[in-house]
Amino acid sequence: MNSQDFRKEAHKLVDWMADYFENIEQYPVKSQLAPQDIYRQIPDSPPQQGEPFEQIFEDFQQKILPGITHWQHPSFFAYFNGNNSFPSVLGEMLTATLAAQCMVWDTSPAAAELEEKVMNWLKEMMGIPANFEGVIQDTASTATLCALLTAREKFSNYQINQKGFQQENFMVYASSETHSSIDKAVKIAGLGIDNLRKIPANKQFAMIPEELDKAIRDDLAVGKKPLCVIATVGTTSSTAIDPVRSLGEICQKYGIFYHIDAAYAGTAALLPEKRWILDGIELADTYLFNPHKWMFTNFDCTAYFVKDKKALIRTFEILPEYLKTQSDALVNNYRDWGIQLGRRFRALKLWFVIRSFGVEGIQNKLRKHLELAQWLKNKIEFHPDFEILAPLEFNLLCLRYKPQDIQDEAQLDFLNQKLIEKINRSGKAYLTHTRLKGTYTIRIAIGQTSVEARHIENLWEILQREAALLNN
Ligand code: PLP
Repeated sequence: MNSQDFRKEAHKLVDWMADYFENIEQYPVKSQLAPQDIYRQIPDSPPQQGEPFEQIFEDFQQKILPGITHWQHPSFFAYFNGNNSFPSVLGEMLTATLAAQCMVWDTSPAAAELEEKVMNWLKEMMGIPANFEGVIQDTASTATLCALLTAREKFSNYQINQKGFQQENFMVYASSETHSSIDKAVKIAGLGIDNLRKIPANKQFAMIPEELDKAIRDDLAVGKKPLCVIATVGTTSSTAIDPVRSLGEICQKYGIFYHIDAAYAGTAALLPEKRWILDGIELADTYLFNPHKWMFTNFDCTAYFVKDKKALIRTFEILPEYLKTQSDALVNNYRDWGIQLGRRFRALKLWFVIRSFGVEGIQNKLRKHLELAQWLKNKIEFHPDFEILAPLEFNLLCLRYKPQDIQDEAQLDFLNQKLIEKINRSGKAYLTHTRLKGTYTIRIAIGQTSVEARHIENLWEILQREAALLNN
């Protein structure tokens, strides 16, 4: 492919992309294919000679697209959203074009300096304390791993990096509702999953501070060393909010590293009326949220903030001769702020999003999502055959179908599982589930970039209709 072919094909692709967004509602939200359907269609060996792009793109449309679940579909209500937006896609196009590898300041000063500036913007936009410094990580999972590794090194006086584990007996604490990325990070950091204490949650699914305090005391009494507490603002199952300040005070009392995971709900701190969710953030050592979930920024992009930049860098720093530059003492070299050496230019799409929407534009969208969720909650609450199963904190509804004539819990679980399966198979909406206190729970996350009231009204109709049919 030469430059002229590239120009021609790129124009066609941009048209296809615009059509895709315009016609996205014509696709089934969830891919309807069976396992191996795609795999079988791709030749077992690569072509020896190059193929015309037209053919490649034709195969993309015929073979790949049917195997795509359309995360940008306004009726995607599954998991948590992974949004994009027009400015974000444009930013990604330029990032792909420049293909700058932004490991150190020298390798693209604009990438390093824009990242620093945009992270500062986020601090101002969300009331994150000025003494935190931000860096973009790929995912929340990675940022949490960075937090645990930093805690581990700081509390071992950087000796585990040096000598490996001795007999530290470190303990980590998170609520029973915490995301699986915490378990994974504990494993990878070598802390041992048996040393992760899952602290009980209250009826609202938030961590109980007294239980945390007790667990810490119990561990201290037998010679264990409390290392890190992880609070969640917006748990994955129900967007419960751990009491950030109370947990932070416990960390201060015992001298424990404090990390806050606000992967999904952190974006809500953009709204002054929701900023209370971060009350006590100044007590934290590290904090993360994902613009790639609810802030209209293409996956991947996690905003990670640390109070002690020196500890972060000391944990990850490595300085071979070939990476030394003249400017090292004057600039941020983000390769030392995390795990990977090579880094994509992620700040560009975030900059595009914030500038194109403006803070108010993002706030308007978030408020709309909160209102739509509230509307649906009211409908569900007043329906005799449906039940809300968790407080509505943001835009995630937890519910189940509970016809008045069925009391048996196993039968209700089964019915709700069938209900989700039926709706997902219809291609009209995509829902996923969780279990809350053992109960099979339907989750509906309303945070899509292009969702409108009509999509929620439609979903409510589908839910009632399909549920009634199931129970007949
Ligand atoms: N933390 C919470 C609370 C989450 O809900 C999720 C994903 O949904 C994660 C962490 C992991 O996010 P990521 O995919 O960015 O690693």
